[in-house]
Amino acid sequence: MEIQRTAVVKLSIPDHRRDDLKRTMDTFRDAVQRFADRGWEGDDNGYVITTRTQLQPLVYDEVREDTGLHADLCVGAVNQAADALSICVKKMKEGERTSKPVFTSNTTVYTTNAITYFDGYCSLAAYGNGRVHAEYVYPDESPQAKCMESDEWNKQGARLRYDQQSDTYYLHVSVTQEREVSSGEAENRTVLGVDRNVDGNLAVTSTGAFIGNADLLNHKRREYNRCRARLQQQGERSAHLTIQSIGKKFSNWSEDFLHRASKRLVSEPVSQDCTTIVFEDLEQIRERISNASKFQQWAFRELKRQTVYKARAEGITVETVNPAYTSQRCSHTECGFTDDSNRDGDAFVCQKCGKELHSDYNAARNIAHKFIQNRRTSGSGGATYHLALKSGTVNGNGEYSPSTAGG
Ligand SMILES: [Zn+2]
Repeated sequence: MEIQRTAVVKLSIPDHRRDDLKRTMDTFRDAVQRFADRGWEGDDNGYVITTRTQLQPLVYDEVREDTGLHADLCVGAVNQAADALSICVKKMKEGERTSKPVFTSNTTVYTTNAITYFDGYCSLAAYGNGRVHAEYVYPDESPQAKCMESDEWNKQGARLRYDQQSDTYYLHVSVTQEREVSSGEAENRTVLGVDRNVDGNLAVTSTGAFIGNADLLNHKRREYNRCRARLQQQGERSAHLTIQSIGKKFSNWSEDFLHRASKRLVSEPVSQDCTTIVFEDLEQIRERISNASKFQQWAFRELKRQTVYKARAEGITVETVNPAYTSQRCSHTECGFTDDSNRDGDAFVCQKCGKELHSDYNAARNIAHKFIQNRRTSGSGGATYHLALKSGTVNGNGEYSPSTAGG
């Protein structure tokens, strides 16, 4: 299977080419906008155009001539416009309100023809006197260095982003790697259980990682609600515009917050060599989170959605189990005593064996355990499932092996 990642690399741009690169970026954005405008106008039947093949012949020559943009960058611009239009149409189909895409970000999309990777630097299609040569800036042995310098990773296209605040260019390179999937009798699969919450920590893993401060997220949301309510009372046009602007700011912030939490969550199975992440099945916990606000429920779902997406890129599968009794059961390997009285808020104290654990951590271990038990009883096609714990693994028979990684 193919593993996909993005390497973010800081670039050093020669001073005399900075203007060329900036102009390329500005022109690229204009070109994307022109393609999107045309696509939004629609085809002969009035449908918004969402594919590159349909969009490109309509205005490509005109846009190239007007902007003088490099042909390969023009292709990237059509792609970006088509992607944005597809998202709009998807929203429309789901009954959401949407409007024509407007492009404001400092980003240039480089297809494989518009960028060439060399040892220590890349060359980028640009305005002016030929391609811009930009050196990579990263420490030796850093993850970026490994991605960019090793033959194991195939470098594809990239996005060039300009950060205005630090006046710095960053290259986001898509890299892929073919990995063999082991199969058959000998397959060993290690399972990471995840307990999700609408307060406290967004996610707690069976390896003992506490991820994402949900209380902070909820606090920020309340602040935003209060601020919006105050502005709504004013009722003026300027207040309306401010509401829109703080709304956008907050939604960007919360998206980013969940992005970082899901990234952290996926780094856990990656570092612990897990093959499978197990969540509780949402349908079955609907009641448990039904008292939470719409926003909290959204964050709850969004964390999983982003995790699934990122896990897939790492070749990690995501499964769910029925969560019944996962918070009442003692996850201690030799115990398993299940009773309501074991749990008191964040504290889990087994009334039989006396084991004390954080409730969410205990639940995460049980979620993974339950998945492994289900697989054992249903026959898992020869694969042996292990449960990933803080410092080792436990298999379906309860046999413990200490971690070889020393974790
Ligand atoms: Zn116990």
